[in-house]
Amino acid sequence: MITYDAIVVGSGITGGWAAKELTEKGLRTLMIERGRDVVHRKDYITEHKPSWDLPLRDARLSVGTKGAEEYPIQARTGQFREANKHFFIKDTKSPYIEDKPFTWIQGDQVGGKSLIWGRQVYRWSDLDFEANLRDGHGVDWPLRYADIAPWYSYVERFIGVSGEKLGLPQLPDGEFQPPMEMNAGEKLVKTGVERAFPDRHVTIGRVAILTQPLNGRLPCHYCGPCERGCSTGSYFSTQASTLPAAQATRRLTVLPNSIVHSVIYDAGKNRVTGVRVVDTVTKQTRTISWTITSWRARAEASRACSTTTTRATGRTGSTSPASATWGTTPRAASMCVASATRAAPVARDGGAAAASAGSAWS
Ligand SMILES: Cc1cc2nc3c(=O)[nH]c(=O)nc-3n(C[C@H](O)[C@H](O)[C@H](O)COP(=O)(O)OP(=O)(O)OC[C@H]3O[C@@H](n4cnc5c(N)ncnc54)[C@H](O)[C@@H]3O)c2cc1C
Ligand code: SF4
Repeated sequence: MITYDAIVVGSGITGGWAAKELTEKGLRTLMIERGRDVVHRKDYITEHKPSWDLPLRDARLSVGTKGAEEYPIQARTGQFREANKHFFIKDTKSPYIEDKPFTWIQGDQVGGKSLIWGRQVYRWSDLDFEANLRDGHGVDWPLRYADIAPWYSYVERFIGVSGEKLGLPQLPDGEFQPPMEMNAGEKLVKTGVERAFPDRHVTIGRVAILTQPLNGRLPCHYCGPCERGCSTGSYFSTQASTLPAAQATRRLTVLPNSIVHSVIYDAGKNRVTGVRVVDTVTKQTRTISWTITSWRARAEASRACSTTTTRATGRTGSTSPASATWGTTPRAASMCVASATRAAPVARDGGAAAASAGSAWS
């Protein structure tokens, strides 16, 4: 019988980090992903294809253009192209009501958006953490830069960030690999700007792309179309980084093609006891549940989850540090639903009728 101590929903940047942290802390972990599996290297099907081998010459696909018929929302983003549209969700298969304009860009595969993200990673400073307090908007952040700085470092050391150290208080330095070299045009702009405005800086982007080897991943060879996948693992993705780390523990099981329909909440116990999962291939609905058998294990797992939250979000430029927190509903953000213990024996072909606590797929 296979049992799990933790269940992670989603396999994007957050889910990958959760799986890595939980498995490295000793928990047998099940990662459930609604989309198909994407195997590192093998499934980067357009990676080295020249544009003349693509029917639309790797056109940028915008709303209403040929090739974007099934992606009216995804086509709103500038990164949506012929060569990487298989890493975006089909809007026609995943419609939602858009009362107000809301462009929901979604990956729909193992790796989630980690395969298509822009890889720009900047630390927030106290200017950012205190800005809304000074302006009188929203709720004050419950932490400051000093609280989160060690976690930025923890993440950066693992994902590999290249960039230039500048010593600027408004843009704190990180654990950088050497920066990429600017090209001739960029150097010209830098020289011109810094001559005209001596207090300003032009610097190369701080990116989760390697300039030195790291954990079996190779430095970037500047081929260009990162959004098609990267066989050398030079940019950070679930496939290149967190998934192999989690798998190396031999405590991870990945379950693709499985949508978590809902979280099962036991009001009497005031805790989540499992998840309902729809198999996207067979369309069967199953329940994965577990029993709490050890308070100590539960406490340890909870600690692992909350720690991971910080680590998973402790950086990012366009993403706010809070944007990837554990969800409480089965939506895009990944979440850790099991804070504990003996979980469900998984038998995908079981199809048994009912699941009781501590049992399994139903
Ligand atoms: C084009 C683009 C460029 C970006 N550039 C940057 C950048 O430069 N810097 C930066 O910091 N951020 C950037 N971002 C944002 C960043 O990519 C996201 O914030 C981050 O990838 C979110 O990670 P996640 O794991 O929370 O979500 P996702 O990557 O969306 O992962 C969620 C996963 O959960 C799965 N899932 C969802 N619901 C369910 C369910 N019910 N059951 C099972 N599985 C489910 C999905 O299929 C998906 O695989 C960019 C985003 C896009 C789209
Ligand atoms: S990270 Fe570098 S090596 Fe990888 S796809 Fe992008 S440009 Fe190519």
